[in-house]
Amino acid sequence: MRRTLSILGSTGSIGRQTLEVAQALDLPVAALTAHQNAALLEEQARRFRPELAVCAGPAAAADLKVRLADTPVRVAAGPEGLLEAAALPAADTVVTAVVGIAGLEPTLAAVRAGKRIALANKETLVCAGELVMDQAEEYGAEILPVDSEHSALFQCLQGCRDRGEVRRLILTASGGPFFGWSREALAEVTPAQALKHPNWSMGAKISVDSATLMNKGLEYIEAMRLYHMPPEKISVVIHRESIIHSLVEYCDYAVLAQLGAADMRLPIQYALTWPERTPGPVRPLNLLECPSLTFQAPDLDAFPCLGLALEAARTGGTATAVLNGANEAAVGLFLAGKLSFPGIAQRVALALERLPAVQKPGLTEVLGADQAARALVTDL
Ligand code: NAD
Ligand code: MG
Repeated sequence: MRRTLSILGSTGSIGRQTLEVAQALDLPVAALTAHQNAALLEEQARRFRPELAVCAGPAAAADLKVRLADTPVRVAAGPEGLLEAAALPAADTVVTAVVGIAGLEPTLAAVRAGKRIALANKETLVCAGELVMDQAEEYGAEILPVDSEHSALFQCLQGCRDRGEVRRLILTASGGPFFGWSREALAEVTPAQALKHPNWSMGAKISVDSATLMNKGLEYIEAMRLYHMPPEKISVVIHRESIIHSLVEYCDYAVLAQLGAADMRLPIQYALTWPERTPGPVRPLNLLECPSLTFQAPDLDAFPCLGLALEAARTGGTATAVLNGANEAAVGLFLAGKLSFPGIAQRVALALERLPAVQKPGLTEVLGADQAARALVTDL
């Protein structure tokens, strides 16, 4: 089936790679959205000719309207524009490549419109995973993972007839740029160092999350929600080479793994073509040129964010929204030079300690927990 795409966050790292896949597979694009970058969105709109182009920022949307005045592309603004792109009748597939909780309401809009969702925006499942998965079932929306680890798990689960046969999901983690560093050395880390990931080129927020290992914590919660697994059936292993993207251990101790080049276009493409596979833009993996594959336990003492995420996962309810909101705010402060690298984990820990968790939250409770966590982190 040839899918028609709406890409939320098309100017970001995942958004741009999604357009490369769309080009290679000749998939039509019905909507594109960005936050502020009207110049790049104009370029993308001229190339892919969507029906709708949206800038969340009002000034950027006004600029985009002028830029696209000679084209038939309709321009919309603000969070309402994003919701419209998410539910656009012309698109059957919505790629959620917005960063942060800003992706939550558009994802819910796509779910309620019964779309296939190629989900990159992990923060959505971290904050409101149960709500999103329940509504997806109710509205018949398919949620397919774009995150490379979750795509690997999804691929290893393809032959599984009974989820009860799964003993453990094993998430691999590259360890980030500071693998092996001591607590003392991490105190001096600068934003420029944190933004240099050894294996992947990504947006700023997820790059910092990869450096603190919070990214693996968020992925842990994402895996629980996507595959309905309790926390004790998920584990994390450091695999520096980023060649195995994750593994599934079955009850007979057979372990299935998915291997491939470190290239996000493969999981993006699989979320668009599943259950089919097609040739695409990704280069092959040459086993004879691979480095040796290594595995180590994560260092929870030097990287406390991973432990905090596991704690929030076990608490459940709004604890995961507090974790995410506090982390988004703390990462923002770190990138602005207003907070040290270890300060990120310290503030997330304080937010979890001070804000009590509400179980079985609706959207209002989730958004309230997010706001409270941000305010607490910013005011400290
Ligand atoms: P990015 O910062 O490169 O891009 C983010 C996109 O979202 C941009 O188009 C930006 O304009 C838009 N955006 C940001 N804030 C917005 C707001 N408030 N309202 C509307 N639009 C907004 O980020 P990225 O690296 O592409 O990551 C996107 C998502 O995918 C994140 O949730 C990330 O965790 C996830 N992800 C990324 C990668 C990767 O390799 N980059 C891998 C796995 C998962
Ligand atoms: Mg990932």
